[in-house]
Amino acid sequence: MYPLNKSFLLAIIVIIIALVALGLYVYMISQTKPTQRILIVGTSPDFPPFEYIDEQGNIVGFDIDMMKELAKMMDYDDIEIVSIDFEGLIPALQQGQIDVIAAGMTITDERKQQVDFTIPYWEADQAILVIKGGDFQPESPDDLVGKVVGVQTGTTAESYLTDLVENQGYDITIKSYSSYVLAVTDLVNGRIDAVMVDLPVAKMFEKQYNVQISGIVETGEKYGLAVRKGNTELLNKLNDALTQLMQSDKWDQLVQKYFGQG
Ligand code: GLN
Repeated sequence: MYPLNKSFLLAIIVIIIALVALGLYVYMISQTKPTQRILIVGTSPDFPPFEYIDEQGNIVGFDIDMMKELAKMMDYDDIEIVSIDFEGLIPALQQGQIDVIAAGMTITDERKQQVDFTIPYWEADQAILVIKGGDFQPESPDDLVGKVVGVQTGTTAESYLTDLVENQGYDITIKSYSSYVLAVTDLVNGRIDAVMVDLPVAKMFEKQYNVQISGIVETGEKYGLAVRKGNTELLNKLNDALTQLMQSDKWDQLVQKYFGQG
């Protein structure tokens, strides 16, 4: 029937107009929303499972999920991840490019002169990584004499080896890389003899590359999040949230997700 068709058409037009208006309204609301509170997190995504780049090219990992949880608990709307070479993280923090460093960073006296650390959230030793099944199986730093050992620039592994060479007369050639992934790649390709890296990360590299852990150096390092010196407001909030998170089931789930069993 003609009249019915006409009113039907009219109804459709009214609905379309209403939907467009609603869409516009929602868009405008979203644009005028009060400024979002974003926590800017700096990391160096070459340290699995704490931070790494997944197959889709996203920066993911234990530290990233942990920061998302902490940010939520501290009433931030979201976090923004900024990727920076490990050695550039402290300068970036000091220059105000980032608010917090989440990078499996060991709390050291030297770094404490430059940044403020939260309470520890992880503990780790160092591992010596070599090519899988090779003849060279160094168990301790003594076995590294006369060899070329790769590390990531600015890490505790680099300081550890530098101390051996400069203060204890060890003849070890240290090769520093902008990222641990590059160091392990060179190890796999036979360009260096070993890599020294934090044990939990060495275990992940063992799964991903043709390498194996030949020795462990018990350094008992503790990881903390770092904020700008004197940023006590953020530091206190992070410490409160971290204390709470570490006692929650969520923490166990995170540990399970990234470290699992075996
Ligand atoms: N934990 C080591 C350090 O703080 C290594 C950290 C890293 O390479 N991301 O130096």
